[in-house]
Amino acid sequence: MTASRGSSAESAEALAFERKRSVPPSPAADPPALLRPTGYDLREYRGKMVRRGPSGGRRVALTFDDGPSVNTEKVLEVLREHRAKATFFFVGGRILGKEAVALDVVRQGSEVANHTWSHVELKGLSEAQVEKTIRLTQEEIVGATGVQNEFVRPRGGACDDTALEVVRRMGLVMVGWDASGHDTFKEDKTVEQIEALTVREAGAGSIVLLHEMNPSTVRALPAILDRLEAEGYQLVTLADLLRPG
Ligand SMILES: [Zn+2]
Repeated sequence: MTASRGSSAESAEALAFERKRSVPPSPAADPPALLRPTGYDLREYRGKMVRRGPSGGRRVALTFDDGPSVNTEKVLEVLREHRAKATFFFVGGRILGKEAVALDVVRQGSEVANHTWSHVELKGLSEAQVEKTIRLTQEEIVGATGVQNEFVRPRGGACDDTALEVVRRMGLVMVGWDASGHDTFKEDKTVEQIEALTVREAGAGSIVLLHEMNPSTVRALPAILDRLEAEGYQLVTLADLLRPG
């Protein structure tokens, strides 16, 4: 007798195949199996903090930190309407119980990336601590979506040489940003300010930091996409922004 697999696992695999990304045999695979899912070489980006992509094309990568949250589906809806893609830096522990949301991100064509297991600051952690918080999150993302990612964003953009080296050894890429909506709750910006700051700071090759939990960010998003598209920008995933050629 052959055990039938769940439909979500099958469609996730099909999607991963379409995107020429490898699906590991098991979510519990060892770190070496978690390498190079994009199918192209990101070596030049490893071992440092990547803050922007090539400026040759008019491409911008929007990134949404700290989810999954009650707003993830709303963000996806706006992206769908605009046929835009983005990267969601999920906190591993927050995916528990929200696996379907993570899978929806991948189905929409966007990607789920790694924002540590518990939103811990990487700076000052030991090698083993950095490895664990990132590995657990990688495994959770693969378990939920069937798709690998190669990108890690440290909390607050703060990391040290130890964290950079561990991430490099895991075959992953540390990602910061060069543009932002300045939309943390602490910064307390209005919808209009978030829209204006994001559009002003974003340029060709930009990696843009946004926070999906802020309802003002979600409200600003349609206008942000309208304006960036009007300026001729294509909204892409980080994997697409950093893809060679
Ligand atoms: Zn964060």
